[in-house]
Parts: sequence; structure tokens; C-alpha cells
Amino acid sequence: MLAEGKIASQARNDRLFISNFLLRSFRMTYQPNPARYDSMEYRRSGRSGLQLPAISVGLWQNFGEVNALAGCRDILRTAFDAGVTHFDLANNYGPPPGAAEETFGRLYKSDFKPYRDELIISTKAGYGMWPGPYGDGGSRKYLVASLDQSLRRMGLDYVDIYYHHRPDPATPIEESMAALDQLVRQGKALYVGLSSYSPEETRQACAVLRELGTPCLIHQPKYSLLVRDVEEGLLDTLAEEGVGCIAFSSLAQGVLTDKYLQGVPPDSRAARNLGNGAIDESQLNPANIEKARKLNELAQQRGQSMAQFALAWVLKDPRMTSVIIGASKPQQVLDAVGCLKNYQFSTDELAQIDAILN
Ligand code: NDP
Repeated sequence: MLAEGKIASQARNDRLFISNFLLRSFRMTYQPNPARYDSMEYRRSGRSGLQLPAISVGLWQNFGEVNALAGCRDILRTAFDAGVTHFDLANNYGPPPGAAEETFGRLYKSDFKPYRDELIISTKAGYGMWPGPYGDGGSRKYLVASLDQSLRRMGLDYVDIYYHHRPDPATPIEESMAALDQLVRQGKALYVGLSSYSPEETRQACAVLRELGTPCLIHQPKYSLLVRDVEEGLLDTLAEEGVGCIAFSSLAQGVLTDKYLQGVPPDSRAARNLGNGAIDESQLNPANIEKARKLNELAQQRGQSMAQFALAWVLKDPRMTSVIIGASKPQQVLDAVGCLKNYQFSTDELAQIDAILN
């Protein structure tokens, strides 16, 4: 009797274990939304064959060691489910540097590996990464070593786009571009890009890359309602060169949303003093907040959130391939994607915007 009872209770435990295991596996196995391609818009990058989603997601902030993996997973799953096929990284994203690529690598392994051919993953090198003369800048030594490290952290065989993150005046542009070309030939990157290069540097780099047979795919500059330098030459240069353009910080790290209109929320980027280029309270310029307040009124008249308005304004230009947003919550990704419902602006609206900005 005793033995029978023990066997029955063991069987019950086994059944419980199996059903819990199945439940956990079911909950944990990511099944992307089958309708993920229904509403996203994809734009061709310059004169290349590659199309990018109009909204891309970047991992500069919110994917470091301090961020809970579950929250990072929610953001990436929400994005992919909404048709965001492009995730933008760099060797130094974290904190600490390298951590965002490691976070991405963990989530890639658990969630996204079956969908590798549906994803465009970029990384970059150009800022300081490791001690000594070979961990910064634009030398072949640095760019090659850094991509090998990035691939290891992300658990990838190749990235789709590899960027030189910033120009390095101390290195001949021919050397940096030859390194990018070499990495494409080795199969470690499919395309190459430039970030924060001036129009003149962009022309030089594009000429070298064309000569090498690896045309520049895309340029990644800062562009928002508050930072408009690209309108003074870069956008024209890119159009002439047949290179795409993907903007960063188009929400001015949150200033061009409604979040700072009533003060500084404790969970906002500005309140968290993250360092490494992230906005802090001292950079919340009252003049810019006032502009955001007035722009928010225009956004409301258009039936858009302030974030949607700011992103739509960047995407109104057909030379723009995509906008990379940062997100601390899945809802912010969905809000951003909503901007695609209306990125047309009347002449009158554009004049009102310019009047507020000037
Ligand atoms: P954004 O200007 O999009 O700012 C993102 C932040 O704005 C979020 O973290 C969030 O802040 C807030 N936010 C976003 N959406 C909303 C919303 N709907 N409502 C309210 N608040 C919102 O971009 P980032 O400056 O983060 O840059 C985006 C990406 O661009 C980076 O991840 C990186 O990939 C790339 N980049 C490239 C650079 C380069 O040199 N090439 C430099 C910088 C960025 P909160 O935390 O307060 O919620």
C-alpha cells in the first residue's frame, strides 16, 4: 500500500513537472505576430537593393547590464511584431560598453535566431573601446578587431550593416574604408555605412568605397526638429551619391515627446543620470521645452502624439530611409509606429513649425 501510494505520488509529481515544463516552454517560446508585415512601411536605402523599416529601434540606452532582460525582450518582441526588422547597435552601447550587444545576443539566441533572415542588424566602431592605441579611431586594426568582438557578443556570423561610427581625421580615409570593404569581402558584414561624417568627408568616403566595389549603403546622422544641420548639405550629398539616410535622436532623447512638459518624471532618461551622452536634467533647456509645448499643440491638432509628430516630420522627406528610435517601454515603439499614419505636412503647417523653431 505504502509503495503504491509512493508510486502514485511520484507519477503525480512527474505529470506536474511535465505540465509546468510545457507551460513554461509555451510561454517562453516566442511566436512573432503573423501580421507583422501588414502595416509597416519599408523604404529603399539610397540606390541599393536593401529596404529598411521606416521606424527602426536602437539599443544605445535601455539595454545595458542595469536593465532587466525581460523589459528588453518586451521591447524587441513588440518591435518585431510591428514590422520593425532593423535593430541598431554599436560596440560601445551599454553601460558598460559591449553590454547592449551582449543583451541582444541573449535575446537573439532565445527569441530571434529562427528569424535571422528577416532581420537587419547593424553595429559600429569608432569610439573608445579598449585601452591602448588600437581600441579607438578608424585604423584597420581597430575596425577589424572590433567587429570580431561584436560578432562574438551578439552570437552572429555576420552583421547586415557595419558603420564607421565617426570620422577619424588622424587615419587616412582610404584605410578606414578599405577595412570596411575587407570585412564585407570576408562575409562579416553585408553592407557598410558612415555616421556623423560631414558632407565633404562623406563624398570622399563614398568615392573610395565605390572604387573598392563596396558602395556606401547609408549614413547615420543626428536629425530632429531641434537639430537640422543635415539640411545644410548632407541630405543633398546623400541623394547625389545614392546613399540612404537613417536619423538618430529624432525625439531629442525624449525632449520632443510630451514627457517633460510637466516637469521631469522620475523614470525618465533625464532623471536617471546615465552618463555616456545620455541627456540629464541640466541639459533640459527651457527654451526647447517651450518649443516642444507649442509643437505639442500642433501635434494635437493633427491627432498625433508629440513623438509621432516629431518622427513624422523627419520622415516627410523622401530622402530619409528610416528613423531609429530609442525606447524604454514597448508602448513607445507602438506610439512611434503610429506616426506612419500621417507624415504629410501642409505648407501652412510647415510654416507654423518653422515659426515656433525660430
Ligand atoms: P530618441 O531621440 O528616440 O530618444 C529615445 C528616448 O525618448 C527613449 O529612451 C524614451 O526615454 C523617450 N521616448 C521614446 N519614445 C517615446 C514616446 N513615444 N513617448 C515618450 N517618450 C518617448 O533616440 P536616442 O537618442 O535614444 O537614439 C536612438 C538610437 O539612435 C540609439 O539607440 C542608437 O541606435 C542611435 N544613435 C546613434 C548615434 C550615433 O552616433 N550614430 C548616437 C545616438 C544614438 P525615457 O527613457 O525617458 O522613457
